[in-house]
Amino acid sequence: MRKIIIAGNWKLNKTSLEAIDLVNGFKRDFVDITEVDIVVCPPFTALAEVHEVLNESNIGLGAQDVYWEDSGAFTGEVSAPMLKDIGVQYVIIGHSERRQFFGETNQTVNKKIKAALKSGLIPIACVGELLQEREANKTFVVIGKQLEESFAELTKEEMAKIIIAYEPVWAIGTGKTATPAQAQEVHKFIRDFLVKLHGKELAARVRIQYGGSVKPDNIAELVSQGDIDGALVGGASLQHESFVKIVKNSCLNSAKK
Ligand code: PEP
Repeated sequence: MRKIIIAGNWKLNKTSLEAIDLVNGFKRDFVDITEVDIVVCPPFTALAEVHEVLNESNIGLGAQDVYWEDSGAFTGEVSAPMLKDIGVQYVIIGHSERRQFFGETNQTVNKKIKAALKSGLIPIACVGELLQEREANKTFVVIGKQLEESFAELTKEEMAKIIIAYEPVWAIGTGKTATPAQAQEVHKFIRDFLVKLHGKELAARVRIQYGGSVKPDNIAELVSQGDIDGALVGGASLQHESFVKIVKNSCLNSAKK
């Protein structure tokens, strides 16, 4: 059984005070939710304070990136042991904005996944094709390469701990959601890849989130698809009302997986 997981990626938004205000509201409204896992991923500067608020709640805490070395002369970076130390449980790795603006590659994603796992963090590993790649019928080639290289040398036990986020780049922040059928097609491809890599039992356990303009009115249909196990939500996770509705609407189809 795979439990649906909804994660909010706040990107470069919210001061500590704004973050505390937002999660206090989530805590209140999510208090009775047990059907789905909920995660918020504030910027680094708000993680420690948000952790204080979330302590012993049913909302998990994630970071938006991590460096692969534990410590040393790497100005500006934050390591997995540092995140673990302040109560972080999840980390988004390989988001398309990191790939597009900060030189992230499948090779650096691979190193970051290994570092996160070594420190007991759960990676949310992102893959996704550009619009021109989709239009050139290269979606599966691109996703296949991202999966192969990002998960290189990981054991079956390590793969079992990872969450994968399929985020078509053309759908991120554009208001242009992939149709449930388009998303399901790629999620199925990813699960089939996992079958080939480590067998059916492992593939049936790994959760695959969809990301790209998820909203309160499209989440239920997305998670009703056989291989879509939740969502990584950007813009709509920054507002109380929309994120609460997304989480609650995802519960409507939560028993299906
Ligand atoms: C994201 O950044 O991961 C994302 C999916 O953004 P949005 O929901 O705003 O498209």
